[in-house]
Amino acid sequence: MDTGILFVISAPSGTGKSSLIKALLNSSVLTYQIKESISYTTRHIRKGEKNGEHYFFISKEKFKKMIIGEEFLEYAKVFNNYYGTSRKYIEHTLFNGIDVLLNIDWQGAKQIRKKIPDSKSIFVLPPSKHELYRRLNNRGQDSNLDILKRIQKSTIEIQHYIEYDYLIVNDDFNVAMYNLITIIQAEHLCIKRQQKVNQLIINHLLNN
Ligand code: 5GP
Repeated sequence: MDTGILFVISAPSGTGKSSLIKALLNSSVLTYQIKESISYTTRHIRKGEKNGEHYFFISKEKFKKMIIGEEFLEYAKVFNNYYGTSRKYIEHTLFNGIDVLLNIDWQGAKQIRKKIPDSKSIFVLPPSKHELYRRLNNRGQDSNLDILKRIQKSTIEIQHYIEYDYLIVNDDFNVAMYNLITIIQAEHLCIKRQQKVNQLIINHLLNN
């Protein structure tokens, strides 16, 4: 058994990234096991969110303690709140041969790339500015000020697309989904991995 692959997915909010991830985790097409990491955050809990399901909602004090305890594989300040990825969960899950998906911002992606060079990062873009604004307005969860901040932040996030390994434009949801699954499948099929996984078969075939 090989270790799992760490996939990082980033996108400006309003790109449909969460829906893509949800569909991916429920996909019957993907032939590899994948789990989404639940981040820790200091931001307030939104309507409909559950602690331990969407995030682990913690205080700033607890977050700082976790930083000092080196409990985060990466962490960043996004929209004035802190977000971080549990080091223990990632190491344990990858060790057990299960892929992990990190739904994090460009700052976190940068840290992960440095710490885990074998990880793969995917950037999701909306099909247009118009569509991005429309989707941000349709969320119905945020104040106008929040929406305005997100629009400004989305431009900063998009500027970092070039640092990623893959790019998906989420215009048609099913196509974007298919592309996401293709990336994951292809990463598992690369020679470096396949050689390890199929060592016995390869040795047997090459033996006279
Ligand atoms: P939201 O508060 O809308 O759920 O997320 C805001 C932003 O924080 C999103 O871009 C999301 O990807 C990012 N984010 C969520 N969890 C983490 C994390 O653990 N680390 C980092 N660096 N960013 C995160």
